[in-house]
Amino acid sequence: MTTIELDKSYVAPTYGRFPVEIVKGKGSLLWDANGREYIDLGSGIGVNSMGLCDEQWIAAVTEQLGLYQHTSNLYYTAPCAQLAEKLCKRTGMKNVFFSNSGAEANECAIKAARKYAADHKGREYTTILTLNNSFHGRTLTTLAATGQAAFHEHFLPLTEGFVHIEPTKEALEQAVKENKVAAILFEIVRGEGGVLPLEPEFVQAMVQIAGEQDILLVCDEVQTGNGRTGKLYSYMHYGFTPDIVSTAKGLAGGLPIGATLLGEKVEAVFAPGLNGSTFGGNPVAAAAANHILDRLDEQLLQEVQEKSQYVFETLKGAKGVTDVTGLGLMIGVKTVKPAKEVVAACIEKGVLPLTAKDKVRLLPALNIPMETLKKAIEILKTVCGEGL
Ligand SMILES: *Cc1c(COP(=O)(O)O)cnc(C)c1O
Repeated sequence: MTTIELDKSYVAPTYGRFPVEIVKGKGSLLWDANGREYIDLGSGIGVNSMGLCDEQWIAAVTEQLGLYQHTSNLYYTAPCAQLAEKLCKRTGMKNVFFSNSGAEANECAIKAARKYAADHKGREYTTILTLNNSFHGRTLTTLAATGQAAFHEHFLPLTEGFVHIEPTKEALEQAVKENKVAAILFEIVRGEGGVLPLEPEFVQAMVQIAGEQDILLVCDEVQTGNGRTGKLYSYMHYGFTPDIVSTAKGLAGGLPIGATLLGEKVEAVFAPGLNGSTFGGNPVAAAAANHILDRLDEQLLQEVQEKSQYVFETLKGAKGVTDVTGLGLMIGVKTVKPAKEVVAACIEKGVLPLTAKDKVRLLPALNIPMETLKKAIEILKTVCGEGL
């Protein structure tokens, strides 16, 4: 059987895959089983921060693989400790819990928020506010947090205590009056929900209300984090510091990792036994993440912003494009034609974008060469306007 036939026979059918079998990658280029070349505008959903098979990244990973691949959390290991230090020094957070995915990073954030509220405000302060069109993961608790009813169907009952609101000051004020609120969990740019950035006025209101009522601000940086938006973390565009930051996807540049960064208020909520993960802080993933963070310097972040500007300028007002949203290299393109049709036509022409709800979504590698990006965006632009 071919790979596609094997997959269809034996892999649980939870994904709608494109009819492409990837066999090789280099930088922002991918090759399929028929030898066709593609420009990658998805980077494995914002995971391969430095593209595919980056030589320095491979060297960092293989160096650690040659020492030890795993130890369990019963012992101290340098990659994990150094990664925690790097994350804290660059964000002002106090300590870090490591896991393996975005959903787990959010689970830990939710546990930390619930415990803080119980310890400091009272056991009845259990509600976590989240936003409509948010996405926080696929576990039963992070699904409950996710503000999209379509994801909840079939799996009820979910974890209690989540209230979804529109990101407006009025909705927030009302929800805070009506519930005993422990925390607000939010994405600065709702990715899966359609690449929707928050209005600065809403963020301001959220920061103020949270400050007045000792409500924790929990920023889900799973997709927006690690340089994706042109700053190390997307909240840095808005001039405030959350109490908890969860991140994953691009942090290790292609190996599974999750991290929950705990700020001053919550630095002491956990004690031995209160959370854990067998693979959390795995030395190979941590070595990869240390390498990625070292690469995310001011120059690279500046380049992300420049590439972003190029994409916005090229696609805004283009034929067949009705809106361009997002931040940095996390970009949503609203098209006249259905997004799925646009993506299918792009694939035919050797470009691999993503979708988010009714939009075409672009999450290229942060180091995609400008020339490669230009080539791909020109193709996307042509496809958007073709036949209209
Ligand atoms: C992808 C994503 C998650 C879930 O991450 P997994 O690693 O798939 O568990 C959570 N939050 C946001 C904002 C995401 O984009």
